Amino acid sequence: MSQVGTLFIVSAPSGAGKSSLITALLAEKRDYPAQVSISHTTRSPRPGEVNGEHYHFVTETEFKQLIAENAFFEWAEVFGNYYGTSRVTIEQSLAQGIDVMLDIDWQGARQVHSAMPNAKGIFILPPSRAELEARLNKRGQDSTEVIAKRMEKAQSEMSHYNEYDYLIVNDDFDTATQEFSAIVRALRNEQEKQAIKHRETIRELLEV
Ligand code: GDP
Ligand code: ADP
Ligand code: 5GP
Repeated sequence: MSQVGTLFIVSAPSGAGKSSLITALLAEKRDYPAQVSISHTTRSPRPGEVNGEHYHFVTETEFKQLIAENAFFEWAEVFGNYYGTSRVTIEQSLAQGIDVMLDIDWQGARQVHSAMPNAKGIFILPPSRAELEARLNKRGQDSTEVIAKRMEKAQSEMSHYNEYDYLIVNDDFDTATQEFSAIVRALRNEQEKQAIKHRETIRELLEV
């Protein structure tokens, strides 16, 4: 059997830089496959967001149908919209040795952790409240009311940072990307995973 992938749960208050960090990580040259899981959501697409690339955009009726079909690995209501991770794609990718990143909120993270205790959680914090607000404004893709609502919820979301295995403060973007990359790479070398990948080598080395 080849190596199995690691499931990463990446959470942060909206605007802290999750999407940017995941995009930067996936753009790095590396010798193993990794992908981000594309969630389903009932929120409207932002300008430039492409259906099937950033999210699968669905209606509330369609989303509820998927819940009834048990199609979600986890789902949650965030900022008045539904968000969910589909089960099939992640399970298939992990079995193929692909690392999978879930960009999900803390409620979803809890559900994933209880279903898959081996999943690794990474929490991303902004360097300050003022900078978080500045980034939400700079992104320029949400209305003033939506930004106000996201800022209002940021503190309670950030209070969950201690439920995660790793913490990154996204101040300087390159530093944060390197930290993120180091975590992902280190997990590739976990003893249990390496033992499966290098089974033949280990057998030969330990042969009596
Ligand atoms: P979204 O999915 O539209 O929110 O996309 P991103 O947040 O990933 O990126 C939005 C834009 O910000 C892109 O043009 C990025 O190249 C740019 N960007 C990402 N990170 C940084 C950063 O740390 N500093 C600056 N100045 N620009 C960045
Ligand atoms: P999230 O996915 O967590 O909502 P984004 O990745 O969309 O956040 O980032 C929000 C905004 O902040 C984007 O405009 C992005 O370019 C910017 N940004 C992300 N990280 C940094 C950083 N370290 N320094 C400055 N701006 C950043
Ligand atoms: P946004 O609308 O800015 O893309 O995402 C808003 C929030 O919803 C973020 O905190 C993001 O992590 C979360 N989110 C996105 N997809 C999912 C998902 O599939 N499941 C859960 N539980 N949360 C999600």
